[in-house]
Amino acid sequence: MPAAVTRGITGTRLFLPSRVGATLIRQSAWVGANITINNNAQAPGQVGYRDYLGVGASDPVYRAITLIHELGHAASIIYGTDALRVLWDENNPTQSRANSQLVYDNCFRPE
Ligand SMILES: [Zn+2]
Repeated sequence: MPAAVTRGITGTRLFLPSRVGATLIRQSAWVGANITINNNAQAPGQVGYRDYLGVGASDPVYRAITLIHELGHAASIIYGTDALRVLWDENNPTQSRANSQLVYDNCFRPE
């Protein structure tokens, strides 16, 4: 049961091909992202994270890690893979954990 899920919002955008005489064409694209925080009583954000990274962080710190982790997914959806540091991890608990570890190491690890 994930603590949160981020999904792209589909839409369209106008694109001008670079060839001479080209006209605008409409193409499908991600136009935003929705972040859903799981408020189920059994979700980690509610029942506790049990320090699953083994770093001694509190549940409030894990909740903050979850929010930043999901913002990382939203950034990659909205700005493209060039902005990618938090890798796609749907149905991949190993990658999800690595993403949360990346957030902890960069934002919360004591000096
Ligand atoms: Zn993730």
